[in-house]
Amino acid sequence: MLIGIDDTDSNEGMCTTYLAALLADELRVFGTVAGFPYLIRLNPTISYKTRGNAALGIELNLFAEDSETKEKVISFVTEKIETYAELSCDQTNPGAVFIFDEAYESLRLPLNDFYKKAVTGVIEIEEATAFLNQAELEFPNAVFHASMKNGRGLIGSLAACGAMLNSDTDTDFTFEYVVYRLPSNWGSCGGPERFVDKESLILADQMTTPETWDTIDFDKKTKPFPVCVPSGNDPVLFGIRGNSAAAVSKAAECVISEEIEKAQIFKTNQGTDAHLISVRFVSEMKPLHSYILEGIVHSIAETIEGGHDIFKLRDPSGGILTCAAFEPTGNFRHIIRELIPEDEIRVYGSFKNETLNLEKMKVLKLAEDLKSENPICQECGKRMESAGAGQGFRCKKCKTKTESKTEVLIPRKINIGYYEVPPSARRHLSKPLIRYSKEDLKS
Ligand SMILES: [Zn+2]
Repeated sequence: MLIGIDDTDSNEGMCTTYLAALLADELRVFGTVAGFPYLIRLNPTISYKTRGNAALGIELNLFAEDSETKEKVISFVTEKIETYAELSCDQTNPGAVFIFDEAYESLRLPLNDFYKKAVTGVIEIEEATAFLNQAELEFPNAVFHASMKNGRGLIGSLAACGAMLNSDTDTDFTFEYVVYRLPSNWGSCGGPERFVDKESLILADQMTTPETWDTIDFDKKTKPFPVCVPSGNDPVLFGIRGNSAAAVSKAAECVISEEIEKAQIFKTNQGTDAHLISVRFVSEMKPLHSYILEGIVHSIAETIEGGHDIFKLRDPSGGILTCAAFEPTGNFRHIIRELIPEDEIRVYGSFKNETLNLEKMKVLKLAEDLKSENPICQECGKRMESAGAGQGFRCKKCKTKTESKTEVLIPRKINIGYYEVPPSARRHLSKPLIRYSKEDLKS
């Protein structure tokens, strides 16, 4: 059976992944957990959701498939959500979806579509409840749901079921090793600051790169920043992301930290670019969606208040797109400032407030950066001076003359290839360049 849960966390403390880790342990009385629990990130531009837009999923192989066991599992999960969800938080609207084996085949495709829409697009609660009403009518003994308050969590719960049900196809997945603090240390209980030894994190990164990523941000070379350690009241102590369960486990073993409560490996769509849609024209873009688009640089970057850099891109039909590298993207902005009109680039990012928020870029072709200068005297090698308006240029000493200025090629400071924002500014879903093969980097 599949169990999808979502929206049990709040901005103050609880975290849906913690509840999933807890359930993965405790549900073992009813069956075995197939593989790893799933941590599914949804459309990152939807702002009403709590931090991170994450839904969780567990596939359980029940010891017994009778209706009594089914009911027990459903009430067990629902009670855990009621106990742990921060129901007092306005933004917390939990949901849970249960799908039993009999419905797998019929729901595989519709749930895959639902998952894809939840990652790339916008889904309203009514769409999720309509989907569930239909499925529950068709499979009265195999599809169930539970929701609290406005039930927004049903969206992510269904999406998580869709991702799990289709995980054996060629879908890209990564892994995260998440470590939880002792409950007495949680910030919400007035616990102390997190202790995770930075040197051990640097070692963990070195031991496992390129199979793990975003443990440390080396963007500011002089001061490596442990980007895998959150702040605030979150029960998470740290999380290591990587290509395999083996790689993230190996990295986590290197880490020296405060005493921990538990650790859980999740299979996840993080770092896969699952949110991006390829388009050819700006006119195809809709707000709150994320895109890949190729075009020509139309105007150079302007740094605006707050340290954000904005430039314009032109698509093949002449459509103009405003692209932004915001202040937290750090050194990535220095690359953006090197772009000049007529450079050909491919941009990756979320479209919100009429602006594409850049996550990544590929320079496809560099334009010639020309500057006109006074000509050089062929006799003495010195720069000539103007002989007066419309009179050309001359060298006083050698008495040589030339009609016009010369065009000089200015060396470009960027190259053809990919550029990305630093780890601390990366979206969960964004695929880091470290995951690109040599072939990928050519395309
Ligand atoms: Zn001269």
